[in-house]
Amino acid sequence: MRTVIYPGSFDPVTNGHLDIIERALKLFDQVIIAVAENPKKTPLFTVEERLHMLREATAGFSHVKVTNYSGLTVDFAKVHGACALIRGLRALSDFEAEFQMALINRHMEPDIATVFLMPHDRYTHLNSSIIREIARLGRDVTDFVPPIVINYLREKYNHE
Ligand code: ADP
Repeated sequence: MRTVIYPGSFDPVTNGHLDIIERALKLFDQVIIAVAENPKKTPLFTVEERLHMLREATAGFSHVKVTNYSGLTVDFAKVHGACALIRGLRALSDFEAEFQMALINRHMEPDIATVFLMPHDRYTHLNSSIIREIARLGRDVTDFVPPIVINYLREKYNHE
């Protein structure tokens, strides 16, 4: 059984994240989506809200688990017997930080690989922060996020 961890902030989950999850499911037996509790970040949504959105958005997928973690991603991966971490690569701008993280993680845990997956072109410009910004300013984001996220964004920003 090959388990992979897909770690991230998911603040909130977007269609880009879902694209990566679908691709990961073709390569691994089980994907654990892991919401990172990062004390250095001030997220819009609480961990519980992010978990709930992810669970709803992935309810149609088999072999997906959604959970949260704190501490090092490689430690979390080891505890769950994962053989790899998934990260999404959208553009060259993602590369430098991801490359550094992958090499440091490999130094700490040589048996846990980092696998980079590219989303469909239609998602390469998407990230959670741009979604938050568009929604905050009252514009429609239905093309970019699953329906459950629309409801949560409306509630946060009090738009109709
Ligand atoms: P983090 O704070 O760890 O970057 P994110 O939720 O922003 O958390 O991203 C989690 C992972 O998903 C990262 O590997 C990121 O590159 C990837 N990702 C985010 N948005 C997209 C997208 N539109 N297409 C593909 N991968 C994405």
